[in-house]
Amino acid sequence: TGAADAVLPAEAVVDLDAVAANTSVLRERAGGADVMAVVKADGYGHGLVPSALAALSGGATWLGVAHLAEGLALRAAGVTAPVLAWLVVPGQDLTAAVAADVDVSASAPWAVEALAAAARRTGCAARVHLKVDTGLSRGGATADDWPDLVRAAATAQADGSLEVVGLWSHLASADDPAQDGLTRRQVERLAEAAEVAARSGVRPPLRHLANSAGVLAHPATHLDLVRPGVAVYGVSPAPGRASAAGLGLVPAMTLRARLALVKHVGAGEGVSYGHTHTTAAPTRLALVPLGYGDGLPRHASGGGPVQVRGRRYAVAGRVCMDQVVLDLGDDDAARAVRAGDEVEVFGTGAGGGPTAQDWADAAGTIAYEVVTRIGARVPRRYV
Ligand code: PLP
Repeated sequence: TGAADAVLPAEAVVDLDAVAANTSVLRERAGGADVMAVVKADGYGHGLVPSALAALSGGATWLGVAHLAEGLALRAAGVTAPVLAWLVVPGQDLTAAVAADVDVSASAPWAVEALAAAARRTGCAARVHLKVDTGLSRGGATADDWPDLVRAAATAQADGSLEVVGLWSHLASADDPAQDGLTRRQVERLAEAAEVAARSGVRPPLRHLANSAGVLAHPATHLDLVRPGVAVYGVSPAPGRASAAGLGLVPAMTLRARLALVKHVGAGEGVSYGHTHTTAAPTRLALVPLGYGDGLPRHASGGGPVQVRGRRYAVAGRVCMDQVVLDLGDDDAARAVRAGDEVEVFGTGAGGGPTAQDWADAAGTIAYEVVTRIGARVPRRYV
């Protein structure tokens, strides 16, 4: 049998057609704005390069990453689309970014100066996106510091070492209908920052602000370019506003395993570390070879849902490093379950199967974290 048929304890099947189709949905929803598919953190766990290529085939024309190394990995794989990397630190060597034509974000004058210095070393102009903090209080210059950042960029632009490509910011609460006023204020503050920049002669072609929730719920945030991440992978950015299916998105990752063991035990047996679950009656226990070492949230102990032979079970007791236990009961359905049977841990939700959102709900977190943390030990299979 070929590698695709190999029996493995667990695998994450990534549907690249879903990534492409989700990207086209987002492109449509973004109106005239271009789409920068955000592929940081190994494509939210789906694979950096495969996700990037699928998103480009679905109509994205830009790629967004956090670390410069992620942008350089895209270039090393032969990706030529424009790439923006937004997290650099003082002292970091930015020469490779300039040489590889990776755009870099600057939130402070030192970043502009470091880029200009790298540009002088390489002999080509560095491409920068100036970031303003419009309300997230994370990256970006405050309104008070913005004029200094703009002046530094104007100076470097004048001597040819820098090209200001964009002005940008990031939304804080676009997923939360109760905070729509904040989203509107962020749009206004970016416009004000652009006016300040224009007065210093900095008038780049692009303004961008929207994450997935902005694309899907706030047309006023679309501007020239949108930066959806999680929705590219078919996960709703705002489950309180709309489900993935309701948005026309298809979850791209299906996490599957094979049961490693099924055994019969009596009533009153404590299950997994700390015995936080006890069997109520004679039952069958099944072992799923995935645990927090693979990224399953330990906070989903006693609740994370899986599906075996069309039936849902919750994880019984604690999530361990490499495995979780299911308490199947002892009815006909349970008696039919065998070691080697397939377990769907999460996927598209078709056929009533669990989703990453269900795991997030069970763990008190967000589906972003669930898919992004599925670890390197779980082989990815691309379909
Ligand atoms: N833009 C920036 C700066 C980000 O950090 C992220 C991810 O958090 C995104 C866009 C994409 O956000 P989302 O996954 O919510 O669409």
